[in-house]
Amino acid sequence: MHTESITLQVNSLPRFLKPCPRCKHPYYENSGCFRVNANGKRLDIWLICRCEHCKTIWNLSVYERIDRTKLQTEQYDAYLRNDQALILRHVFDPAFLQKNRAELDCEGIAIQPVGTIPPEGTAAQILATSDYSLPLPTGRVIALLLNVSLSRVRRMHSDGTLLFNGDLRTTKAAKAFSFTLLDDWKR
Ligand SMILES: [Zn+2]
Repeated sequence: MHTESITLQVNSLPRFLKPCPRCKHPYYENSGCFRVNANGKRLDIWLICRCEHCKTIWNLSVYERIDRTKLQTEQYDAYLRNDQALILRHVFDPAFLQKNRAELDCEGIAIQPVGTIPPEGTAAQILATSDYSLPLPTGRVIALLLNVSLSRVRRMHSDGTLLFNGDLRTTKAAKAFSFTLLDDWKR
């Protein structure tokens, strides 16, 4: 059986589940911008988010009072130019989310798969990887990859044409996971 590698790309900045204290709207959007404050040798860096509706600002702490020399020039520049990959690395970092009591809107995370799923009936092991620790249930990502419904994925799993070593509902895709399609798999 051969292995197909699929890359899961994230092409947009996910929003956060957070009720706005001012207008009660349930989501904050990611502005795509860092705020960098220098105070002598010390730096504060935040990721700026804002209520989707009334634009109330919510700053998520990236670094507080960090010694400027602790950051490499390249990394510092990436903050100054609001590098999108760097933003994504932070927003998918569980420690960053926990520190800021932030929760991603998982329903709204848009994944773009790059790679080839074999045709129906062709057995393959599929290895899906991402640069980021994706908090999405594996079942949902498999449904996206196969272009079928989540209930179809569950049926394939229970009838044994799709093998997955984990719980489709609760195991997170994270940075990598794999599943196997057997010879008689059908959409
Ligand atoms: Zn608001």
